[in-house]
Amino acid sequence: MPAPAARYAEPGNAPDALSVLNSVFGLPAFRGAQEEIVRHVTEGGNCLVLMPTGGGKSLCYQLPSLLREGCGIVVSPLIALMRDQVAGLLEAGVNAAVLNSTLSFDEASEVERRLLAGDLDLLYVAPERLLTPRCLSLLGQASIALFAIDEAHCVSQWGHDFRPEYIGLSAIAERFPDVPRIALTATADEMTRKEIVTRLGLSGAPSFISSFDRPNIRYEIVEKQNAPAQLKAFISERHAGDAGIVYCLSRAKVEDTAEALSKAGIPALPYHAGLDASVRARNQDRFINEDGVVIVATIAFGMGIDKPDVRFVAHLDLPKSIEAYYQETGRAGRDGKPSSAWMAYGLTDIVQQRRMIDESTGSDTFKRVSIGKLDALVALAETAGCRRSRLLGYFGEEATSSSCGNCDNCLSPPQLRDGKVAAQKLLSCAYRTGQRFGAMHLIDVLVGRLTERVTQFGHDKLSVFGVGRELNEKHWRAVIRQLVAMGHLRADSEAFNALKLTESARGVLKGETEIMLREAAPGTRIRVSRTKSRRGDLEPRAEAKPADAPLQAALRAWRSEIARQRNVPAYV
Ligand code: ADP
Ligand code: MG
Ligand code: ZN
Repeated sequence: MPAPAARYAEPGNAPDALSVLNSVFGLPAFRGAQEEIVRHVTEGGNCLVLMPTGGGKSLCYQLPSLLREGCGIVVSPLIALMRDQVAGLLEAGVNAAVLNSTLSFDEASEVERRLLAGDLDLLYVAPERLLTPRCLSLLGQASIALFAIDEAHCVSQWGHDFRPEYIGLSAIAERFPDVPRIALTATADEMTRKEIVTRLGLSGAPSFISSFDRPNIRYEIVEKQNAPAQLKAFISERHAGDAGIVYCLSRAKVEDTAEALSKAGIPALPYHAGLDASVRARNQDRFINEDGVVIVATIAFGMGIDKPDVRFVAHLDLPKSIEAYYQETGRAGRDGKPSSAWMAYGLTDIVQQRRMIDESTGSDTFKRVSIGKLDALVALAETAGCRRSRLLGYFGEEATSSSCGNCDNCLSPPQLRDGKVAAQKLLSCAYRTGQRFGAMHLIDVLVGRLTERVTQFGHDKLSVFGVGRELNEKHWRAVIRQLVAMGHLRADSEAFNALKLTESARGVLKGETEIMLREAAPGTRIRVSRTKSRRGDLEPRAEAKPADAPLQAALRAWRSEIARQRNVPAYV
């Protein structure tokens, strides 16, 4: 058996990165920062790599592992991910193996033997396995090229994907100070980034940060009215025949949505943890291998799925954070072709997420951080500005222009109006009714509706009764959402989602704070009317209102672009 590095080199040449990239991985050239990262790690440097999903992080440690002496140890959180990567490497002729709980004792012993014999280039290890005394002492006897900590954000307690076993990985820096460490992730805000650096002992090491922009993804967030009908309209008008992922929070909603889409002639399959493993595997296979299948899933679906031609990701519920939103929407358009990230959201989503946080068993700090993350997401959903620059700004990246031209707000700028008076009316209504009521009741009082509750509490006698007749219920909901997004109002989940004023509401009531409110939710406006179908049952019917001319022109250009791309051979 030849020495590891020489095995991949052109005969007679010292192995260089590019020739290994060509000969082993069959790729013509490096992408983005890959070359620089590979050089840095091959020379023995530590680093943090931030690159969006699909950016090509794996090569950043796989190549140096082949170029350096010894075996590269890769820590990865998911067994399925490890298995797929190792299968790919074996196919490329790389000596790769896994060490995790799926191996029998004999199989594991064989892997250990090969590691000690210098017969492995890459070894994928589950974190809890790596941290066992047995494994640590084994690694102490072997020749190690580097440690790669993939999905490094799992080390962050504040991240959306915290894994307790990742915390112990700080032991690597202590036990093997001379072996280069490379931490990789696709999602890290400033706080998570700092935590990775601290926990994995990377202070002083460079960070290689690629742009997180996904220019081919069009971001769109619409006001939730009749979500199933809106989703059907979105798919049939914009993505007929395309593969896509629809995310819902609950299993029941996954099943209902998949059924509703199927009935509408859209091939949709459910995917959630409550389904039989064989059903899950079959649905996932069909999604990956057949054309134009829509998978309706809980967030359990997606990590490690490498399907390049997912044309849309739709959210029927609000994700937990901007990181989660970015990662989930990032599964669209990995092939670089035009794709959509579409989300329908409403006031109840904020309330529901708030309740989930408040009712969770996490510490007070955890809850505070989670609420901060939710607030940031709500602000993204409510912004009247460019979604892309908001999103990039969240990851600490300055957008190159204030208008990206490929999000709903840029394509059809929302009308802003002075919302000071409306905000004052709403806030004083909440105040005068004792901050004990939810949106519905406050709106009843504002528009002067004599409901049973209104009379029961004597709210028809209040000065705010009927002062908001100039706006309809839908507008008032939009006002409430935006006030929540601006932090002047919050839903108290411990008090039946009563809307309560925050400290900053005082400035609004006194008229010291300017409030600009968006006229209506942006994106394709959809009016939903319920009509009796011939069978006599009630069916929602969606009608797209004529949008304004610039948007229509943009949509036409967009559709013809998609049609044009469809005739082009698939990107490889
Ligand atoms: P990440 O881990 O960042 O999500 P991967 O490492 O899984 O991304 O790579 C995503 C896809 O991009 C893979 O199919 C991989 O083969 C491909 N890829 C990576 N680097 C290159 C490159 N330099 N040229 C072409 N394709 C690449
Ligand atoms: Mg990866
Ligand atoms: Zn934009």
